[in-house]
Amino acid sequence: MPTTPHSHSAAPETTGPDRGPPAPRRGVLRSTWNEILDLVFPPRCAACGEPSEAGPFCPVCAEAVDPVPPGCSRCGLPGPDAACGACLARPPAFDAIRAGGLFGGPLADAVHALKYRGRPALARSLGAWLAARVPLPPGAAVVSVPLGRRRRRERGYDQAALLAGALARAAGAPRLRAALERVRETAPQVGRDREARARNVRGAFAARGVEGRDLVLVDDVVTTGATADACAQALRAAGARSVTVVSLARAD
Ligand SMILES: [Zn+2]
Ligand SMILES: [Zn+2]
Repeated sequence: MPTTPHSHSAAPETTGPDRGPPAPRRGVLRSTWNEILDLVFPPRCAACGEPSEAGPFCPVCAEAVDPVPPGCSRCGLPGPDAACGACLARPPAFDAIRAGGLFGGPLADAVHALKYRGRPALARSLGAWLAARVPLPPGAAVVSVPLGRRRRRERGYDQAALLAGALARAAGAPRLRAALERVRETAPQVGRDREARARNVRGAFAARGVEGRDLVLVDDVVTTGATADACAQALRAAGARSVTVVSLARAD
């Protein structure tokens, strides 16, 4: 078992939200092994691996998830102002970002387990956890940030899609599966500044079938919101009435 009870790897350098997976071959073997463990054994804490019946986190880890502090009403950037400088200068295409907690501690471990340690079964309990922490706009339908085809192949699943399905089920919201697609592959966002991130994902998404809908756009981690913004632009262009971004974690 690769996990040590209650030791948290918080460093975004190693658990960065958009970093590619570890060496594919080892990753696939470990993924398969972890999937088998998740199927055979009782639920384990998404962060420390201790048995956990009540939710994705054991009581110790649940307590250690940092809530998102108050900040920009648009992009959620923690800070004293109701609107941050970036949103004032160029308002994003989404209406708001809501996250289950700050990236770090047990939440970073959970995201890492979901994305890189091959534990897709975690999406179900994390989606329910997110639904309990983040209210969805009434009547909104759920879409997710699509993973690139290459990374989807390497990983074997799209973690944001799984998360979106679980969130929609837990919240009783409709799920639109084919509304958003990635029309070109993009390089990982890690190591790029805000501007470079925006350039990297510009025009990478296309949407359909969302005319007049209020939407919830799900991703596992939101950092600058550049990817969410590019998705929201595509959804708006296809006629969406509003786009609220909902993520497991908010990173800075
Ligand atoms: Zn735990
Ligand atoms: Zn902002």
